[in-house]
Amino acid sequence: MRGRLWLVDRDVEPGRWGPEPVGHAGLDPRTREFARTRLGPAVSAPLPGRSAVSVSRLGSEQLAELFPGIEVATDEDTRSRASRGMSYVNMVSWRSGREQRAPDAVVFPASHEEALTVVQACSKANIACVPLGGGTSVTGGIDTPDVAAVIAVSTDRMNAIEDFDEESAVVTVGAGITGPELETFLGERGWTLGHFPQSYERASIGGYIAARSSGQSSSGYGRIEDMLVSADVATPIGSWTVGGYPASSSGPDLRQVVLGSEGSLGVITRAQLRVKRAPTVREYRAALIPGDFDAAVRVVQDLTRSPLRPTVLRVSDPAETEALLTMSMPSGLVGRAFSAYVRARRALPGSLIIVGFESDREATLRASRAFTSDVLAEAGAVSLGARPGNSWVTGRFHGPYLRDALLDEGYLVETFETVVLWSHVVDLHRELSDTARRELGDNSYVMAHISHSYDVGASLYFTVLAGGWEDPDAAVTAWQRVKSQIMDVLSDSGAAVSHHHGVGRDHREWLAAQIGGVGLGVLRSMKNYLDPAGVMNPGVLIDGDGRTRR
Ligand SMILES: Cc1cc2nc3c(=O)[nH]c(=O)nc-3n(C[C@H](O)[C@H](O)[C@H](O)COP(=O)(O)OP(=O)(O)OC[C@H]3O[C@@H](n4cnc5c(N)ncnc54)[C@H](O)[C@@H]3O)c2cc1C
Repeated sequence: MRGRLWLVDRDVEPGRWGPEPVGHAGLDPRTREFARTRLGPAVSAPLPGRSAVSVSRLGSEQLAELFPGIEVATDEDTRSRASRGMSYVNMVSWRSGREQRAPDAVVFPASHEEALTVVQACSKANIACVPLGGGTSVTGGIDTPDVAAVIAVSTDRMNAIEDFDEESAVVTVGAGITGPELETFLGERGWTLGHFPQSYERASIGGYIAARSSGQSSSGYGRIEDMLVSADVATPIGSWTVGGYPASSSGPDLRQVVLGSEGSLGVITRAQLRVKRAPTVREYRAALIPGDFDAAVRVVQDLTRSPLRPTVLRVSDPAETEALLTMSMPSGLVGRAFSAYVRARRALPGSLIIVGFESDREATLRASRAFTSDVLAEAGAVSLGARPGNSWVTGRFHGPYLRDALLDEGYLVETFETVVLWSHVVDLHRELSDTARRELGDNSYVMAHISHSYDVGASLYFTVLAGGWEDPDAAVTAWQRVKSQIMDVLSDSGAAVSHHHGVGRDHREWLAAQIGGVGLGVLRSMKNYLDPAGVMNPGVLIDGDGRTRR
C-alpha cells in the first residue's frame, strides 16, 4: 500500500517534515553561526526514527466485520505515523524511540458513504475515531487519546476533484486533497484557491476546515472560512451538509459549527470552495520600518484597513528582523554595501515588512502598490526593493525543513500564536516576548511577526529557539512549563487561545476563559447531539467531563 500523504509516505521518517528541498541540506553556515552564538553549541540529538507503538487491541476479524470492504491498516509503521501530530513535543517523542500510544488501526474510507459506515460502526461499538488529514496538527489534535479502543480515520483516499463550476467559481473536492494537488488542477485552468499556509505541502483541505486555517496570503484571499461554500460531514447520527449558498439569512450559519470542529463532530468528507482568478501579475517587495515594533504595527493597521491592501502583508518584529537579516545577508561586497545602505538610512533597529501584490489586472496591482508605497513613505520606511521580497516567496515553505535541521542539532524550536484587538497588540507582543525570554533563559531567542491582520486587530505569531540541553526530555519539560505560562498570559489579556493552529488537546484547558461557561455548554450540547456515544476525537476542544482550567 502506498499513499500520497505524510501518513504513509515511506520516504520520510516520522519526526521530520520531509526530505530537504534542493539546496537546503542541513543548516547553512550563517544559520549555524547564528544558532551557535545565540543558543549555544549544538548537541548530539536523537535523530528521527520509529518509536515503538502500543500493540493493536483490534483483531482483523473484528475490523473486517466493523468496516466491510473498507481499507484498513494495522501494521506498526502506519499506526505509528497516525499516532501524533507535529508539535515540538510530538517531534521529540518520535525521536525518543520510547513506546507511544497509537491507534489500534488506521481506516481509509474512499467515499462519504464509507466514512459514514466507519463513524456509525465506531459509535455503536464505542471505538474512538480520530479524523486524520495531513497530520500536521501542532496542538495535539490527532494525538491518540487514552481510551479503550481508537482508530484513525484517514481522508487520504477521498482526494478527488468532483466538480468545477467555473461560472460560479466553485470547486467541489474530497476533503483529503492537499493544497498542491488542488492548486495544480486550478492553475491549469487559470484559477487559484489562494490558501498557502506554511504546512501547504502536507495539510489537507479537510484539516484546514476542521482547524480553521489561515494562509500566508490571507490579506488578499481571506481565511479558509471565507472560502468554504459548503461541507458534507459524516457524523455518528447520519450525513450532514452545511452551507451551499452565496449568502443566506436562513437562521444561524451552520458552516461555522463545522469550521473549527477539529474532528469532534464527524468526518468532513467533501467541500465546495470559492476560488479566484489566478494572478497574472505578481510583485513582492521589502522595506525596513525604523524604530520599535509600535511603528510597524501602525503601518500594518493603516494598510489593512484599505481595500487597496496588499495580497501578502507580513511584518517581523525587530528580533525576527535581526535573525532574518543575519541568516540571509549576502556575503562579500554585496553584503557590505547592503549594511552601509541600511546604516546610512538609520533603518536598524527596525521591522522588516514584506508586501506582495497579486492580481489578474495590472491596474489593480499598480493602485495597490502606489497606496502601499505612500503609507510606507509616510512611516519613513527604507525600501529594500524586490530581491528580499522575491526570496521570501521562494523560501515561503522552507521553514519546516529548517526546523528539522535545528532539531537534528538538539535545539528547541517551537511556535505559538494568538489574535487580539489592535489596542492590545503592542502590549501583548511585549508581554509574551518578555515571558518567553525570561522563562527560557539566556540560551534562547524569541521573535515574532504579524502576517494576518484585520480591521479590528491582528494575530501575533512567535517563534522560540533555545539551546543548551543535552537531554531532550529536559527541553520538553521546560517548554511545557513555558507554554503553560504563555497560555495564562493570553487568557488574562483577552487574547484568543489560537488564531489558526486551533485548540486540539493542548489548548483545551484555556478555551473556557475565551468562550465562557455558556459557550462550553453550547459546544457540549452540539457534540452530545451529533456524537451521542462521544467517540469523535475525544479530548479535543472540550473534555468529556467538561474539565477546564478556570
Ligand atoms: C510546519 C507547520 C506549519 C504550519 N503552518 C500553518 C499555517 O501557516 N497556517 C495554519 O493555519 N496552520 C498551520 N499549521 C497547522 C496545521 O497545518 C493546520 O492546522 C492544518 O489546518 C491541519 O491540516 P491537516 O490536514 O494536516 O490536519 P490534521 O493535522 O490531520 O488534523 C488537524 C485537526 O483537524 C481534524 N481533521 C482533519 N481532517 C479532518 C476531516 N476531514 N474531518 C474532520 N476533522 C478533520 C483532526 O482530527 C485534527 O483535530 C502548521 C503546521 C506545521 C507543522
